[in-house]
Amino acid sequence: MKRRPYISEVPFDEAGSDDRSIYLTFDDGPNPGCTGQILDLLAEHRVPATFFVLGAYVKVHPDLVRRTAAEGHLIANHTMTHLDLTVCSSEVIEREINEANRAIVSACPHAAVQHIRAPYGAWNEDVLSRSMDAGLRPVHWSVDPRDWSRPGVDAIVDAVLAAARPGAIVLLHDGCPPDEIGTCKLNGLRDQTLSALLAIIPALRGRGFSFRSLPQ
Ligand SMILES: [Zn+2]
Repeated sequence: MKRRPYISEVPFDEAGSDDRSIYLTFDDGPNPGCTGQILDLLAEHRVPATFFVLGAYVKVHPDLVRRTAAEGHLIANHTMTHLDLTVCSSEVIEREINEANRAIVSACPHAAVQHIRAPYGAWNEDVLSRSMDAGLRPVHWSVDPRDWSRPGVDAIVDAVLAAARPGAIVLLHDGCPPDEIGTCKLNGLRDQTLSALLAIIPALRGRGFSFRSLPQ
């Protein structure tokens, strides 16, 4: 089988050709202003998801990571501090990946971390091979409604519904990276993402989709 450097969608040979699974993913948390609300909403609608967390935030909010895992979501690696790894040395890449893994496992010893998403989706050969050396599967996305830019609830909903298809991996955010936190106001930071989910979840279910966390 041809080696896939990273996945942007869950391939049919893993999911089955009649499968209508779709995969919500949340990056840049845990964040005390956003993650709890997203978790409440997902629990209310019984939607499992995957959270690509930043190790630096995990250290500050280990309780939020434990709650996320306890509620049946998958915890995945989004590196320690959200650097663009394609301009980092191999040593820094390795450290960013491995320190985040350690932070997750220390907060949540039963978490089986198996996936990584590079900050900004910025991959190169070195980032891919260091990820795989750490035993992590590189995961990109196929649906990006740019919710981080707060384009309006309707724009987020429309972008997701227009691009949804079986196996799709949807990129959303439950926090913001450390270098942007100064310009982000915490309250209301992901209010559009939250409101959009209230429309996206029933609309996709109405089209026969099932929500899943990423396959392990
Ligand atoms: Zn990110």
